[in-house]
Amino acid sequence: MSGPRHYDLIIVGASFAGLACARTAALRGLKVAVVERKSDPGEQVRTTGILVKEAAEDTDIPSELTRRIRGVRLHAPNGSHSDHWAPGYYFLATDTPGLLRWMAQEAWRAGAKLHFGGRFGEASQDARAVHVAGLGSASLLVGADGANSAVARTFGLDRNTRFLGGVELELAPDAGADPRFLHCFLDSKLAPGYLAWALGGVNVTQVGVAVRQSSKPDMDAVLERVRARLGLKHIEIVGRRNGLIPVGGVLRRRSTGRVMLIGDAAGHCSPTTGGGIALALRLGRRTAQAASDWLDAGGEHPAAVIAREAPRFGTKLVMRRMLDLAPPNWVWNSIFGTTAFRHLAHAVYFHRRGSESGLPPLDDPRQSAPIQREKDLAI
Ligand SMILES: Cc1cc2nc3c(=O)[nH]c(=O)nc-3n(C[C@H](O)[C@H](O)[C@H](O)COP(=O)(O)OP(=O)(O)OC[C@H]3O[C@@H](n4cnc5c(N)ncnc54)[C@H](O)[C@@H]3O)c2cc1C
Repeated sequence: MSGPRHYDLIIVGASFAGLACARTAALRGLKVAVVERKSDPGEQVRTTGILVKEAAEDTDIPSELTRRIRGVRLHAPNGSHSDHWAPGYYFLATDTPGLLRWMAQEAWRAGAKLHFGGRFGEASQDARAVHVAGLGSASLLVGADGANSAVARTFGLDRNTRFLGGVELELAPDAGADPRFLHCFLDSKLAPGYLAWALGGVNVTQVGVAVRQSSKPDMDAVLERVRARLGLKHIEIVGRRNGLIPVGGVLRRRSTGRVMLIGDAAGHCSPTTGGGIALALRLGRRTAQAASDWLDAGGEHPAAVIAREAPRFGTKLVMRRMLDLAPPNWVWNSIFGTTAFRHLAHAVYFHRRGSESGLPPLDDPRQSAPIQREKDLAI
């Protein structure tokens, strides 16, 4: 790291929220530094990395880093299943390490200074600036450092207290999961508080589970269930991802003076589905736009802009409380084929879009070409 200097923006965390923020802020001419404790943005990925279509519309991502998934197949504990899809809608499985490296390159190309392997430590603020030990000062410090935010801790902001615990295995790509679907397994013994899943990702098959905080995931049981239901043939574990998913909703006190939180650090993650990437990308970008308006044109404080634009999660928090109760499996089995359940499932995954029966079309699987890592990316 270079000696102390003044930035417009210091961002802690080079993941979805931080990198989206850094790129837009740098493109708008702000002086931006990002500090990330990992030495490579693609290492130790802690997410399945599925993007909803809206995220793909907000951010133009190279197609070789993604694969379209057209529908969701829900599996009941008793072995029955139901398929859900909507015309024109899709999810994107991602080469998540590749995507994060690409985002880092884009932020760097835009002019942001990226400090990998540089953990955020001591910091303080006065009326004019925030001071970060070892890095310098900034007009605004953005904590995009995830569910257990050090920025929140340092500046006495609210911290996430309610989580799902997620574990995922990466299998060799030829495991044989039907590539049209994100497979979701509802089962309160296997996945109390949420569900297990499997998908054919980009050059990898992903099998995971998320459970409420008081439970422990049994990955062997999950793998066995997925193998049996999907008829997986070739199981070779090649990697593992895990992490905490904040599901308590948006935190109340998420800014103070020249410091603000975004992404998982602020609780910007759906309490029902645990999805947070789309919001991280959108609010990261909006934070940068608002910061540039605030600093260069006397606009509103970016924390106020994000407070207005971030979702409230009212209904989703109610659904979270219901999922936390982990209904017995006979309840899942008995409601599974009902029209009300189909409507609810469709609303969760496809919002108000029209539904289709039958099977979604099979997109050509895309071959993912691993992108070249820029040698001079890490500074
Ligand atoms: C198992 C699992 C599966 C998931 N699957 C999906 C999914 O398929 N789709 C979806 O939309 N969401 C999913 N989520 C949620 C999603 O991953 C998060 O909402 C999203 O990653 C939030 O992005 P973020 O940039 O706010 O934080 P993060 O992605 O958590 O990134 C925080 C960054 O800050 C860095 N950092 C932390 N502390 C410090 C420090 N002190 N100094 C410097 N750097 C630091 C970390 O290394 C990290 O790079 C999943 C989560 C988990 C755990």
